[in-house]
Amino acid sequence: MQLYNSLSRAVEPFAPADGHTVRMYTCGPTVYNPAHIGNFRTFLFEDLLRRTLRLAGWKVEQVMNLTDVDDKIITRASQQGRTIREVTEPVTAVFHADRAHLRIEDAEHYPKATDYIPQMIALVERLVARGVAYKADDGSVYFAIGKFPAYGRLSRLDTREIKAGARVAQDDYAKENAQDFALWKAARPEDEASGAAWDSPWGRGRPGWHLECSAMAMDLLGETIDLHAGGVDLVFPHHEDEIAQSEAATGKPFARFWCHGEFLQVDGAKMAKRVGNVTNVADLRTQGVSGAALRHFVFSTHYRKQINLSGEALEGSLAAVRRVADFAARLATETGGTPELAVAAREAEAGARAALFDDLNAPEAMATLFSFITVANRELDRRGGDAAALAEARRVFGVIDGVLDIVPEAAGADDVLAAWVEERLAARAAARKARDFSRADAIRREIEARGVALEDTPQGTRWKPGA
Ligand code: AMP
Ligand code: ZN
Repeated sequence: MQLYNSLSRAVEPFAPADGHTVRMYTCGPTVYNPAHIGNFRTFLFEDLLRRTLRLAGWKVEQVMNLTDVDDKIITRASQQGRTIREVTEPVTAVFHADRAHLRIEDAEHYPKATDYIPQMIALVERLVARGVAYKADDGSVYFAIGKFPAYGRLSRLDTREIKAGARVAQDDYAKENAQDFALWKAARPEDEASGAAWDSPWGRGRPGWHLECSAMAMDLLGETIDLHAGGVDLVFPHHEDEIAQSEAATGKPFARFWCHGEFLQVDGAKMAKRVGNVTNVADLRTQGVSGAALRHFVFSTHYRKQINLSGEALEGSLAAVRRVADFAARLATETGGTPELAVAAREAEAGARAALFDDLNAPEAMATLFSFITVANRELDRRGGDAAALAEARRVFGVIDGVLDIVPEAAGADDVLAAWVEERLAARAAARKARDFSRADAIRREIEARGVALEDTPQGTRWKPGA
């Protein structure tokens, strides 16, 4: 298995430090707004990563935190006269439902930042004791980047840019402001009013965003983790600051691998709330775009390349996953194959594994799957009767789809229903033509019993499901 490591800027061989379990931390959503599909592109990349790591034979222990206290959440809560918890709880529920729709596997842990305040305070105490953090006259505690020589290694910050003594209090800031950053922020009236203030050795206050991830990652996974992932926009300052806080406290490397996924764009601009170009999972559902189709769309581009969202591309993915669904249905109902089918299956498995283990080349794994579908359909047409070959084809399809997960389940079920209704309607038409009206009525009742509504029009019988 090879992965691109943002620390070295090179593709390197990857294995978990203990040879068994990959300990990985993935920065999760800030739960003040439902995540948009740009955010979900990153979470899908991480889903691809965890499924590929398991395909490689390792166990995965993944943490995805929920940022439930930060600048944006407090601003939102203050505007609405609510507590941060009242803002974050419903959004967290939406996040898990959207995640399920996109078939993003459950991580092993979803810690909420507000449940880790004691660990965060303990980490700041360690940093103060080591002389790399200090309480400033504004009552907040800052990390002194000048005291940590490795600062800027991940983002290749030119150390001459570092402004000694200058401080930045907000959670997110630009590279030009590489300054001492806030670990613990003194409470303001709006923090108290929204339930975002806790007691600490430095007085009432709340954690900075970066501190949250360091504390939760080390508490749940240990002081050196195998892999840390997120979107590219997190490299600076978020991940740079996570490294500084963690390594300055422990003296050990914080993460062995740093993996970053590229942006989902719309007309050349990053999909982002403040740009006003976001699409949510709820929007996709109304447009009839299944989770499987979005997965196909996202995995058709390598995770380190930008993707542009377009209606045409989504249409293409909808058609592609229908083809996969037809193939899955065919594999389930056929009774045998040919020896060539088994050969093609084994080649497809080898090709897909090689692609995925080569820095998660999902587009190539997908291409391998579609070539296999073409060959397999041709071989199945030959009606070879070789049950072992068919079993091999099913197994390999399961292996590849076990990572990509692009069979549209609901659409599959709908297709089966549609085929059945069409067949029954044809039987009913034949009965009517033969003037066997009691049989025609019996068929009508049979169809309606499945919740399908029928309407006879001069143009023929129309039907719709879900009545
Ligand atoms: P946030 O909730 O803003 O902390 O973001 C959650 C995750 O989504 C982070 O890993 C971000 O890097 C990622 N992200 C934000 N916008 C995009 C985008 N347009 N495309 C891909 N990933 C994104
Ligand atoms: Zn983080």
